[in-house]
Amino acid sequence: MADQTFDYDVLVIGAGPGGYVAAIRAAQLGLKVACAEGRATLGGTCLNVGCIPSKALLHGSELYDEAAGGMMAKYGIKTGPVSLDLAAMQAQKDESVKGLTGGIEFLFKKNKVTWLKGYATFKDARTVTIADQTVTAKNVIIATGSSVTPLPGVSVDNDAGVVVDSTGALALARVPDHMVVIGGGVIGLELGSVWRRLGAQVTVVEFLDQLLPGMDGDVRKEAAKIFKKQGMTLKLSTKVTVVEVKGQKATLTLEPSNGGAAETLEADCVLVAIGRRPNTDGLGLGAIGLEPNARGQIETDHEFRTRIDGVWAVGDVIPGPMLAHKAEDEGIAVAENIAGLTGIVNHDVIPGVVYTSPEFAGVGLTEEAAKAAGHEIKVGKFPMMANSRAKTNHEPDGFVKIIADAKTDRVLGVWCIATLAGTMIAEAALAMEFGATSEDIAYTCHAHPTHSEAIKEAAMTVNGKPIHI
Ligand code: FAD
Ligand code: NAD
Repeated sequence: MADQTFDYDVLVIGAGPGGYVAAIRAAQLGLKVACAEGRATLGGTCLNVGCIPSKALLHGSELYDEAAGGMMAKYGIKTGPVSLDLAAMQAQKDESVKGLTGGIEFLFKKNKVTWLKGYATFKDARTVTIADQTVTAKNVIIATGSSVTPLPGVSVDNDAGVVVDSTGALALARVPDHMVVIGGGVIGLELGSVWRRLGAQVTVVEFLDQLLPGMDGDVRKEAAKIFKKQGMTLKLSTKVTVVEVKGQKATLTLEPSNGGAAETLEADCVLVAIGRRPNTDGLGLGAIGLEPNARGQIETDHEFRTRIDGVWAVGDVIPGPMLAHKAEDEGIAVAENIAGLTGIVNHDVIPGVVYTSPEFAGVGLTEEAAKAAGHEIKVGKFPMMANSRAKTNHEPDGFVKIIADAKTDRVLGVWCIATLAGTMIAEAALAMEFGATSEDIAYTCHAHPTHSEAIKEAAMTVNGKPIHI
């Protein structure tokens, strides 16, 4: 029952994975819940313009690549000439998005969560206006997510389709001849891979000296080799200083990050993918005296309380990796905390996956971070080339790397490059959550023949006793 002085026990602002999950769990726990969302459909960035549409295009483009690239022929499957109906591929992506966003609307109805349509602004800590209505709530959860970080001096126009952000790159109506991706992070490599597979020449310009910041050093080095082998051109330690658009063409000026001679590149599509920033504009945080930190994020404690009594925050808008599953887990935890239970998220064990082919995945500390944190470490590495299933499937790229504490053998981090790395990493996360040692993993029976056996063998390698290398 709602406290009689408030319209709702909980008002969630934003219906992305952080917000909609918090709303549903709070309702499951018997609280009266509303969720404000300004977008026309529920599900936030993830379902509308993020995880789901990107994975739909990654899957579709992978099927196309397999058919057109001869992998099917290798297995004796004769397909004849392969051609692309991009409109149909985009339509099936839109269908997946529609199905899943509609699914959240169904779950809201099922759990009696009221969707307040519009963007919310605080009047005070417990009073919020949404479109033309004002509501009060005993607890307000900020789950407003994040938006694309703009590149100073570069204007994105997703409708024109020449300089686009991730949302534009998910909706292109034609395959570019030459796509230049600014930023060799997750979005750049996933969406760059989609358009490369569909026929574009792709150049990735990355400011740092390696791709995929935040991942283990060995993984980052291998990533560069793999993407180059797949036909991407990589310009590392390079920054884009100017993008000039004339009609359907863009001319980019590139400079080495540490100074040096500039060069120019022509492209008919430029994808700006240099990161995302928290959404706090228009929320009226000033009205409740809540200042974002220097990175624009809302700070919380471990229970997801902000400094302001009754105001909580989760997801991309707070510090930590900008990942849907991290936002979801925080959504569950904050609802449980509001309901008087104990909601906890272990931020040391949040897996991350890049859904290219092969996939890149990791959980826990990188080798560099483990050393920097003062751990004496042992490392076990096992190549996918020596894994019977990967070898049989003609998927030789990649490895599993396990980093364990030298004294206790406790697993500190696991990194995988493999076609199924995103699925394999769940085992590593579970093991770490239970405080496993590398020996625990090595003595766990793994089904044969599976890619996951590479995790067992990497664990055996930590102590120098793998069987297959
Ligand atoms: P969001 O999903 O951003 O949702 C916030 C919602 O709040 C939005 O719908 C917004 O309209 C609404 N909102 C904002 N302000 C207000 C307001 N004042 N009033 C009312 N509503 C408001 N993560 C993964 O884990 N796996 C992936 O494969 C993956 N792929 C991605 C691919 C792309 C192209 C992108 C861009 C992101 C991807 N992400 C992925 C990241 C993931 O989408 C985010 O981490 C996740 O959506 C964050 O959830 P959230 O609930 O914090 O915020
Ligand atoms: P990112 O932080 O992953 O990568 C941005 C890259 O751009 C970095 O490598 C950075 O060094 C580079 N960069 C920054 N400024 C630059 C410049 N001026 N010139 C050239 N390079 C520059 O960010 P992203 O790829 O935009 O993704 C945003 C967020 O969305 C990430 O936090 C990610 O976690 C999330 N996301 C996750 C997934 C997934 O889980 N599979 C997929 C897509 C997005």
